[in-house]
Amino acid sequence: MERIKRLLQEKGLKVTTQRIIVYQVMERLCHATADSVAKEVRSIVPTITVATVYHILESLCQTGLISRLDTRDGKIGYDITAKTHHHLFDAQQRRIEDYDDAGLTHVVREYLAAHPVSGFTVDDVAIWIDGRFSEKNS
Ligand SMILES: [Zn+2]
Repeated sequence: MERIKRLLQEKGLKVTTQRIIVYQVMERLCHATADSVAKEVRSIVPTITVATVYHILESLCQTGLISRLDTRDGKIGYDITAKTHHHLFDAQQRRIEDYDDAGLTHVVREYLAAHPVSGFTVDDVAIWIDGRFSEKNS
């Protein structure tokens, strides 16, 4: 609780119970659509509106505490990891996991430096790797 309060304060956000709960839910879900965060938060605080949850998610995103996630099905998603990173994606299980591999980033950056794309400047590299997890998500 104190850790989250400090995080919010460091980003200049007012510390509210609602903000703390939304952040805690994001920590548990890691990658989630706005709808699934709202559903989870409302199971804890039934009086909070969906619009308030969306607003809090946006404020967490704008201050860099979480990041926006392309859920690949057109829904608005959020990621507890704010820095650029890779993802492993299992479409069948609808499961997304972070894949932190500095070596992969380095290889792709080197490749793109040697083979520049005409008319395009590379800022960052975040790769989605499609596949199947061998174990079911619990
Ligand atoms: Zn992620």
